[in-house]
Amino acid sequence: MKLKHLEMALQRLNGFAKPRPSLEQYQTPAPLAARLVYHAFMRGDIEGKSVCDLGCGTGVLAIGASLLGARSVLGVEIDPGAVEVARLNTGLLGASVEYIVADVREETFPDHLGPCDTVIMNPPFGAQKAHADRPFIDCALRVAPVTYGIFNEGSMQFIKAYTRGRAAIDEKVASALPIKRTFSFHTHDVQEIEVEILRLITMQ
Ligand code: SAH
Repeated sequence: MKLKHLEMALQRLNGFAKPRPSLEQYQTPAPLAARLVYHAFMRGDIEGKSVCDLGCGTGVLAIGASLLGARSVLGVEIDPGAVEVARLNTGLLGASVEYIVADVREETFPDHLGPCDTVIMNPPFGAQKAHADRPFIDCALRVAPVTYGIFNEGSMQFIKAYTRGRAAIDEKVASALPIKRTFSFHTHDVQEIEVEILRLITMQ
């Protein structure tokens, strides 16, 4: 499947029925989601691999990984309502993803989850609650040797410092995230924010 076709497929997915600001529920727009999973695919981190999407929301990244030939994909999400939409979306595109409702902040959660080859995630940026992305990073580094995450522009230094001794950032792909007016405190119809896709390698 080509990048363009993946993007067109992901464009068809349903978004959050009732997005919850406290959970920073923004669906990754299809072009950015396709870019992350396609990039990971080109680097050999998707096809034939076991992939886990932390905070999978309505499933756009997880479904993308499945369409690109992941051996298995697991979506983890705290909000059962979002998982319902994700299941619907998975069927819509004939993908194969297993979902579990769970909180990545649970200390023992990574042990339950078990190891996988690749984590993909667009975690909360911490706009509503400071450091909301940290448990996602911690969990990813405990379960997978390779992680792709979408972060705010300029986060790289912070993430480098936060993961020192545990992971190395070996790639940064700059990208833009158009945020549609979702919550009442949004002042523009569409606002573009700069983001970066980081590839983290867990240290043994
Ligand atoms: N990955 C999806 C959703 C991104 S929004 C996409 O790319 O479109 C971030 C998601 O993380 C939301 O769906 C939110 O409900 C979920 N989330 C927030 N805190 C969480 C937690 N502690 N454990 C699991 N999921 C969480």
